[in-house]
Amino acid sequence: MTRTFNFSAGPAMLPEPVMQQAQSEFLDWHGTGMSVMEMSHRSQDYMAMAHHAEQTLREIMAIPDNYKVLFVHGGASMQFSAIPLNLADTGDVVDYFNTGVWSAKAIKEASRYAQVNVVCDNHAMIPDESEWKFSANAKYIHYTTNETIGGVEFLNQPNVPEGIPLIADMSSTILSRPIDVSQFGMIYAGAQKNIGPAGLAIVIVRDDLVGSARDITPTLLNWQTYAENDSMFNTPSTYSWYLAGLVFDWIKEQGGVAAMAEHNQTKAHRLYQAIDSIDFYTNPVPKSQRSWMNVPFTLQDASLDSTFLKESKDAGLLNLKGHKLVGGMRASIYNAMPQEGVDALIDFMRDFANRYA
Ligand code: PMP
Repeated sequence: MTRTFNFSAGPAMLPEPVMQQAQSEFLDWHGTGMSVMEMSHRSQDYMAMAHHAEQTLREIMAIPDNYKVLFVHGGASMQFSAIPLNLADTGDVVDYFNTGVWSAKAIKEASRYAQVNVVCDNHAMIPDESEWKFSANAKYIHYTTNETIGGVEFLNQPNVPEGIPLIADMSSTILSRPIDVSQFGMIYAGAQKNIGPAGLAIVIVRDDLVGSARDITPTLLNWQTYAENDSMFNTPSTYSWYLAGLVFDWIKEQGGVAAMAEHNQTKAHRLYQAIDSIDFYTNPVPKSQRSWMNVPFTLQDASLDSTFLKESKDAGLLNLKGHKLVGGMRASIYNAMPQEGVDALIDFMRDFANRYA
C-alpha cells in the first residue's frame, strides 16, 4: 500500500490512524458482528456512538450548553438556503460579506429568500474595516471564515455590530484552531475537509435561533427538526457521523484544537516562506489574510503548469491543480496533512524551480 500526500481541497486527506481504526472495525464493530454502515441508527450501540461523537466535538470546541449541535445532510451548501429560511422573512435585510466564490454562492442563494445587503465586495482580499457597510436592521451577518478557492482567511473574527447574530461558514477552517463559539449565532461546516466524509455537515446554533423558521421551510431544512430529534428525524448519514466521531477523538488525543493550530500555523508559515523566497512562485493574498488551510500559488511561467502537475504527481504529491476559476496551483493543508507532506512539497517546488527557472 502506498499512501500519497493528497493536497485536494475536499474531500481531503483524513488522519491515517482514523482510517486504520475504521478499517480494523469495518466488518465487526465492537463485537456486534456488523459494520457501523449496516447498523440501525435507532440501535443502542449506534446512538451511544453518535452521542459520544457529539460530546467529543462539544469538548474540543468548548461549545457552551446553550448551543445545539446538529448533524445534517446536504453539505454546507444546503445551509446556504437553510440560514435565511430559519432566520429571516422575505422582506428582511440580511448582511453578507462577499470575500470570494463561497461567499458569493451563499449570497446568491440567500437572495432568493431575503434582501441581501453586501457588506463589502472583493474576492482578492478582505477590504479594510473602514469600508464595511452594515445595514441598520439586519437579521444576521454572514461571512465565510476562509475562502477555500481564493485562499483568503479572516485570521481574526471580524468586528461587527453587537446584538446581531453572526453566522459563519467554517467549512474549511473548523477545528483548525480554537474559536470562541459564544461569539457566534450559528456556525456551519461541510465535513469533507477537517471532519470526515462528504455529505455530512455540522451546524452549531444558539438555542434562541432555533424555532423561528418561516412556514414554508422544508422540514429537513428547519433546524428545529434536527434539534428536537437528536438529528435523527430521518436516517442520518450514519457512517459519516461515525467517522467524524473518530476524527474528533483523534483531535482530542493530539492535544485538541490548540495543538492543531500550532501544527497548521507551522505548515502554512513554511509553505508561504518558500513561495515568497523562490522567485519562481507567487501567492497574491495580503500577508495578514493568507489562509492556513488553502495555499494558492502561481508559477512564473504558466506554460509549465502541466509539467509541474505531472512531476508532482509522480513524486506522490497529488491534486495540486488550482481551482479552474483562479488557475495555477493550490495546496490544501488541512489538519490531517502531516508536516512531512508540506516539507516534501517545498523540496519538490525548490527542485522544480531550479530545473525550470
Ligand atoms: N463553503 C466553503 C467555504 C467551501 O469550501 C465549500 C466546499 N468546498 C462549501 C461551502 C460547499 O460545501 P458542500 O460541497 O459540502 O456543500
